[in-house]
Amino acid sequence: MSGRLVIAGLGPGAGALVTPEVSAALSEATDVVGYIPYVARVAPRPGLTLHASDNRVELDRARHALEMACAGRSVVVVSSGDPGVFAMAAAVFEAAEAGPAAWRALDIRVLPGITAMLAAAARAGAPLGHDFCAINLSDNLKPWPLIEKRLRLAAEADFAMAFYNPRSKARPEGFAKTLNILQETCRDARPVIFARAVSTPEEEIRVVPLDRCTPEMADMRTMVIVGASTTRVIPREGAPFVYTPRSVPA
Ligand code: SAH
Repeated sequence: MSGRLVIAGLGPGAGALVTPEVSAALSEATDVVGYIPYVARVAPRPGLTLHASDNRVELDRARHALEMACAGRSVVVVSSGDPGVFAMAAAVFEAAEAGPAAWRALDIRVLPGITAMLAAAARAGAPLGHDFCAINLSDNLKPWPLIEKRLRLAAEADFAMAFYNPRSKARPEGFAKTLNILQETCRDARPVIFARAVSTPEEEIRVVPLDRCTPEMADMRTMVIVGASTTRVIPREGAPFVYTPRSVPA
């Protein structure tokens, strides 16, 4: 029997935001592999083995999935959001490239999901309507000076910016430094969106002017979207709409 490996995105949290293609792959799987809270989102059923592992073991988890697929299992590796955005898909290909040739001959498919950045942007309006970039603020897998360089250059180029992994208990100072850099470089009150636990019962959306942002406004469940200089706020009763116009005047 020939196995296969699907790398699937579960979306930001709500069941309605899991694509039908991902649900179908899960219903056919013999094994689901992933970080504990993501595997917990997959309903158990007879014939399905759930392999939940801790964070920071991405490559071990990827190798385990490849081994099982090679042995004939139908394996789904799950990530939250989209599996290609700061998640398991790249880890699987990294393991496949370095591993036995049989791993590269496998049927491997990546099924996209709704990434946190897009779910958060949609809640606020259309802050990513013009050019933007996405930056992972965690320095677990890259040196901090590189993050600073990218932040400064992106701010200078006037991109809107979406930040993943803005702040954790283990690295509280990174996001404080990020805000200092942006406040120094941008010198304005452009809107910043703090979108926490989007599409879950704990969802919370705040829009705060850049000069009034403070580090504790974000945690690991927060997506932070910083507007460009052209980003607009439409105040109204309740949460404002935030959007970035399609055009920049010449
Ligand atoms: N592959 C995922 C991202 C993994 S990195 C994706 O495409 O969405 C994990 C980070 O994503 C978190 O620290 C947080 O910044 C963001 N995130 C994930 N789910 C979120 C949600 N429901 N609401 C807000 N941010 C979320």
